[in-house]
Amino acid sequence: MAYQNSTSNRNRSARPSGNRPGVRSFRPGKGPRTGGSKQRRGAYIHPSKFINKATILPGEEAPYEPTHLFTDFNFVPALQKNIDHKGYVKPSAIQDQSIALTMQGHDVIGLANTGTGKTAAFLLPIIDALYANRDLNSVLIVAPTRELAQQIDEQFRDFSYNMKLYSTLIVGGTNMDRQIRQLQRGPHVIIGTPGRLMDLVKRGNLKLDAVKTLVLDEADRMLDMGFINDIRTLVSKTPSDRQTLFFSATITPSIAELTKEFLNNPQTVSVRTADTSDRVDQDIVEASGKEEKLETLLNLLSNEEFEKVLVFGETKFGVQRLSDHLDKSGVASVAIHGNKSQSQRQRALNAFKDNKVRVMVATDVAARGLDIPNVSHVINFDQPATYEDYVHRIGRTGRGGATGKALTFVDKR
Ligand code: AMP
Repeated sequence: MAYQNSTSNRNRSARPSGNRPGVRSFRPGKGPRTGGSKQRRGAYIHPSKFINKATILPGEEAPYEPTHLFTDFNFVPALQKNIDHKGYVKPSAIQDQSIALTMQGHDVIGLANTGTGKTAAFLLPIIDALYANRDLNSVLIVAPTRELAQQIDEQFRDFSYNMKLYSTLIVGGTNMDRQIRQLQRGPHVIIGTPGRLMDLVKRGNLKLDAVKTLVLDEADRMLDMGFINDIRTLVSKTPSDRQTLFFSATITPSIAELTKEFLNNPQTVSVRTADTSDRVDQDIVEASGKEEKLETLLNLLSNEEFEKVLVFGETKFGVQRLSDHLDKSGVASVAIHGNKSQSQRQRALNAFKDNKVRVMVATDVAARGLDIPNVSHVINFDQPATYEDYVHRIGRTGRGGATGKALTFVDKR
């Protein structure tokens, strides 16, 4: 048995994927959902929804054969050099299919999961156009989380290296005065999260009337996170003849509605392959009470195959406590949650990304949109509040064609 609990009831504690007596196998995402597309927070989620044998194995999907090489796009040489330097050889599917459309000036709807290379898909044409026409404040990129905004900014810096193009990151949790000073210096590109962008618009420090290209990244998540009003206001402050690039992993009726509202005669590129959840082996771990849960978790983590583990907890305090407990028990971990400053979160994230620690404990909000390669296991120490949160959580593993594993703690029956 792969995952064992040290409690007396070994057989029931944690079952490996495979045949499970008495539990009907269920493929999340394929079955009925309670309460339509939006589930009530805290509604009961049947444990069978946390069990699934990965149906798509690495290498099973034919590798995507792009119809373009990066050199086909005739990017300015300085940009092409930076692409080469990053080691990108072939465009990914979303890059292959959307870059030319964006360069032609179309509005584009990109339906792409995270990890598909969508950041470069929008950044490369933007940088190419900016190099020729260096208008200040002419690009606005809006993303759901600070971390995602930061990752976009890092990629922007890499791709625009030595091109004298500048970006400003406008996210919450960091010093606003510094951001105001940076805005006064006149960046070419503004990258931010809806809340802080709105704060600065309201204070009159951020004007969006020079925006020529607007990117809404992970629009579905921004909607999930309740940013719709902020986004509407932000978009309304930009000129109506702008180019809009809209990325989303899903196309729900409310997303379709938004694209009608914000985009003009858009071209749609869909590169969604199998749902991430199909790539993830999912199982439950039975344990009751705090003590037993902690003990079971430590037991799982002592297993060598748990190489890079993202553990989800429900509350900021719970996440911090769990991380402290793991540390005390000899399992080095970091925690990310909303009670930490932006720089603390970034430090924690980097330690996890760079394999300095093997375990990161997080809340749902803190972990959204993060690009963390090679997460071997997602462990739901506390159950997610909605099934949608569950799918987002397990989407942190099994990325880029890899098969991941997700384990969810449920009460012993
Ligand atoms: P994204 O979906 O934009 O978050 O990208 C996911 C990861 O894939 C990032 O680490 C990128 O640096 C990497 N990536 C994106 N496009 C390519 C490419 N064409 N070749 C190699 N790596 C890429």
